[in-house]
Amino acid sequence: MRHPLIAGNWKMYNNVSETMRFFDDFIKLVENLEGVEIAIFPPFTSLWEAAKKTAGTKIKIGAQNVHWEEKGAFTGEISPNMLKEIPCEYVIIGHSERRQHFAESDETVNKKVRAVLKHGIKPVICVGENLKQREENLTLKVVLPQVRKALADVELLSGEEIVFAYEPIWAIGTGKVATPEDAQEVIKSIRKEIETLYNKNIAENIRILYGGSVKPDNIKALMQERDIDGVLVGGASVDPQSFYKICAYK
Ligand code: PGA
Repeated sequence: MRHPLIAGNWKMYNNVSETMRFFDDFIKLVENLEGVEIAIFPPFTSLWEAAKKTAGTKIKIGAQNVHWEEKGAFTGEISPNMLKEIPCEYVIIGHSERRQHFAESDETVNKKVRAVLKHGIKPVICVGENLKQREENLTLKVVLPQVRKALADVELLSGEEIVFAYEPIWAIGTGKVATPEDAQEVIKSIRKEIETLYNKNIAENIRILYGGSVKPDNIKALMQERDIDGVLVGGASVDPQSFYKICAYK
């Protein structure tokens, strides 16, 4: 059985003092919550503080990006071993905002996935189509190649070591959430693709999240779909109360 994962991508929100305040509230709120895994992805500058605050709690920490090299002259970049030391259990790779604004490509996504797996960090690999592609019925023609390219030369043992997030670009930060049925259909196709690339067992173990305008009032319907194993939440994860309500969807 796949364990539901509720992930909060803070993007460029919450500095160190805001991070401290967030966890002061959030840790108390989720103390008695059972049956979901919770992971928060703060900006790099808040990672250390977030890890200290959540040590000994059930909340996991992840980063929003990583470089594939171990070390070197790469001004402004952060390596997998630096994240491991924090410690980060997860890292988001290939978010559409990075693909769009920072020239992230399927090739760099793949390099990053292979690098972090060597360090035992779980990548949350983001894929998704834009509005034009959706309207032209190209969703699977865009998303499935993204999945295949992200996994090129990636060896998986159980499938539990990676997570995918299907995030239609037109639903991110727009308030336009995909219908649970539409999200289910794409996510099911991603799982099928993984089965073709690996095997049924691995495909059944991999968690695939939905992301894009997830809010306390739409989480429940999304989580009822068979193949949706959790959500990647942006805007509604920055505030402890709203993110708690999403985590407590059951
Ligand atoms: P949103 O962002 O929840 O604000 O739409 C989701 C994401 O970008 O991961």
